[in-house]
Amino acid sequence: MAPFAVVAPASPDEAIAELRAAGPGEAVVLAGGTDLLFDLEDSRVGPRRVVSLRRLPWRTLDWNGPSLTIGSTLPLRAIETDPEVRRRIPGLYAAVRAVGSVALRHQATLGGNLGRSAPASDLIPILLVLDAEVDLLGPSGERRIDVDRFVLGSRRTALAPGELIRSIRIPEARPSAYLWQRVRPFHDISHMAVAVAFSAARSAWRVAVSGFPPRPLLVPEAEEALGGPEPGPEAVARAADALAAHAPIVADRRASEAYRRQLVRPLLQRAVQAIRAGSGGR
Ligand SMILES: Cc1cc2nc3c(=O)[nH]c(=O)nc-3n(C[C@H](O)[C@H](O)[C@H](O)COP(=O)(O)OP(=O)(O)OC[C@H]3O[C@@H](n4cnc5c(N)ncnc54)[C@H](O)[C@@H]3O)c2cc1C
Repeated sequence: MAPFAVVAPASPDEAIAELRAAGPGEAVVLAGGTDLLFDLEDSRVGPRRVVSLRRLPWRTLDWNGPSLTIGSTLPLRAIETDPEVRRRIPGLYAAVRAVGSVALRHQATLGGNLGRSAPASDLIPILLVLDAEVDLLGPSGERRIDVDRFVLGSRRTALAPGELIRSIRIPEARPSAYLWQRVRPFHDISHMAVAVAFSAARSAWRVAVSGFPPRPLLVPEAEEALGGPEPGPEAVARAADALAAHAPIVADRRASEAYRRQLVRPLLQRAVQAIRAGSGGR
């Protein structure tokens, strides 16, 4: 590992100035470090400067009517332990709890999960079905982009050079659920996961899958098959078939395509049942 300097700016403006001063590709951003430290160790990134966000005032969780804004550097454990999150967005609670161990969640952040943009992320699918938006801050000012356009692929996002994720906005607390399958809970990453939410404002379902490359995705065919707010058993079965048929599932070293296509049906059915029961899944 090549030597690098670590700086911890006290304000967002200072952080952006640090990134700009380092020059393109010469600086990386550090939040909880649960992904980045491995990247540094494996020399996947070789920065001259590491800009830590730990002093920025972004460890926040703010409810405003139906919407929730989460600061990018808030540890996941603070989302998990917020009683309103558990009550009002059970799928987000379930997805956060799917990430590693309690110890890891004291360190890991939502901003870091989006910044890493892993194909098997447990948080991106639930953000997709909640129609979440990412608030960015950079040398050209502020902008807002929805998660579906922010996440481009593994380690690829719409972040412009020198830009930071400031917060994530969930516009509407929704009945939602997140269900995953992995070999060893708490040690492995999910090799198949399904997130489901119902938007009362739009009177529409949202369904996303995750666990395989290139990135978590919404599956409109399954959303349409679920239909109205109270899908009967036939509509749920049609949606499960549509998900298995249309989700762009591929094989990788962790699971075959056939296995994943089989798994996706019961995961969707159980997610809809969980929403009916008012729970977020596990
Ligand atoms: C043992 C272990 C188990 C894990 N299990 C899971 C799991 O089950 N599910 C899962 O989804 N993930 C898992 N992860 C991955 C990881 O913990 C999460 O992705 C976590 O949310 C990353 O957050 P962080 O704050 O640690 O990010 P960091 O490591 O600090 O950063 C990750 C990336 O995002 C960038 N970044 C961070 N914050 C910002 C910001 N505000 N603006 C712009 N860029 C930013 C960084 O530069 C870096 O490229 C696991 C990791 C480990 C080590």
